[in-house]
Amino acid sequence: MPDNSSINLINIPDASPYLNTLLKQIYDEFYVSDEKVDEIIKGFHDEMRAGLDEHNVLLPMIPSYVTGRPTGKESGSYLALDLGGTNLRVCLVTLNGDSTFDMIQQKFTISQEAKDFTLFDWIAQCVDIFLEENKISYDDFTKPTPCAFTFSFPIDQTGIARGNLIMWNKGFSVPNAVGRDIVTLTQNAFTRKHVNVKIVAIINDTIGSLMASAYTNPNCYMGIIFGTGTNACYWEKVSNIKKWSTGNLDRNPDEMIVNMEWGAFDNKLQVLPFTPHDNKLNRKSQNHGLQVFEKMISGMYLGEVIRNAILWLVDRRVLFGGRSSEILNNAYSLDTAYVSVIVADDSPNLDEVRMFIESTLSIPGTTFTDRAVVKNVCKLIGGRAKRLSAAAMCAVLLWRPEVLDNPITIGVDGSMYQFYPKFAESLKVEAIRVLGKEKADNLNIILSKDGSGVGAAVVAMTVSKPAH
Ligand code: ADP
Ligand code: MG
Repeated sequence: MPDNSSINLINIPDASPYLNTLLKQIYDEFYVSDEKVDEIIKGFHDEMRAGLDEHNVLLPMIPSYVTGRPTGKESGSYLALDLGGTNLRVCLVTLNGDSTFDMIQQKFTISQEAKDFTLFDWIAQCVDIFLEENKISYDDFTKPTPCAFTFSFPIDQTGIARGNLIMWNKGFSVPNAVGRDIVTLTQNAFTRKHVNVKIVAIINDTIGSLMASAYTNPNCYMGIIFGTGTNACYWEKVSNIKKWSTGNLDRNPDEMIVNMEWGAFDNKLQVLPFTPHDNKLNRKSQNHGLQVFEKMISGMYLGEVIRNAILWLVDRRVLFGGRSSEILNNAYSLDTAYVSVIVADDSPNLDEVRMFIESTLSIPGTTFTDRAVVKNVCKLIGGRAKRLSAAAMCAVLLWRPEVLDNPITIGVDGSMYQFYPKFAESLKVEAIRVLGKEKADNLNIILSKDGSGVGAAVVAMTVSKPAH
């Protein structure tokens, strides 16, 4: 079982009985049993059903208006914009019609002024620079380049190219945008700057992952992000989306991608194994009480939960001789990228762990026991993240178990998936336990690299014709 063998992690040589008792307590709090996984899967199904039936419930289950499955034969050049929290990527993707693509892209760091005031004009300016530098631009008289916008802020979507901003987060505060259509605001900025581009679709990064993977693997059923945050989308039968009316579509599709916003799962904390260390993080966070599932597993938060547990041991004087450091005392000073390095350190003296504690955290003179404790706490809490991630994936697979009668693909993106030791393996192990070997063998989990760009281009293609 993934990390259930972690009971071994609490027997550390030379640890005092008191330290062992405290480690056992951490183990008990973070351990996720098979029964717990099954309970979480059931909890997911209850919330998924409620989210598909009604608006304004815990799991948003947002209809994406993406209804066409790609075949890999799509061709043409499309522009894709990917606005994350830190960068804007402008890409020109050329789909070659044989499941391959070429892409040129340019990255622009979002300035504070853009975040506070000028975002849409700034985006138009970046697109203008990109078109000009890559000699793609042409005058107002030629056909505009179709463009899909991957926009990673919450929107209330009312059409494939229409969505009103619900709220800003990640430090953005552009005035007069909340409640308004993001596509109109961006398109108006393009018009003001004579940028000859037409936004034909607005999507999020999970849909980008799904559609990018579907271009090379048309049987792709699901897109998942395990990065700064976590979220997923999948193909749902339209007849199951009871809260949605087909009013805004000119045809009646059988299926549509649903953006789950699964980071919001169990915000009422009825099934998740939430610990006091999670609670400490949650209480101090800007979005207290929200995105609690995300806070237990994603890159932005995992290191912070671990930092809380490490400080809890320091405060009981069983770690680092009871000493902390200014760095370790700072919230979010333990980046999840370090957790991956620590967990992967199999050297006899735990040299990487030593380097991290002594150099990065500035806590000198560690003992082997100190290092073993830090590594094992990382493994226990990281192991929980992997197990909960797998539970969520399995819940979505079991929601439509018939899809596993044939081979299917899941496109996944994000640094946690890419770099955390054995993350991908743990998804597969859990799938075998929950679904059985035969069905799990039909599962092809792939890294959806460049998902936002390629996936957006594929969506743009399915709703328009190329300019050239
Ligand atoms: P984004 O979510 O913005 O698209 P990423 O998928 O790269 O970006 O995720 C960034 C998050 O992943 C950050 O929270 C960072 O702490 C975490 N991260 C970066 N490198 C690693 C790593 N090697 N192992 C685990 N987490 C990582
Ligand atoms: Mg990303």
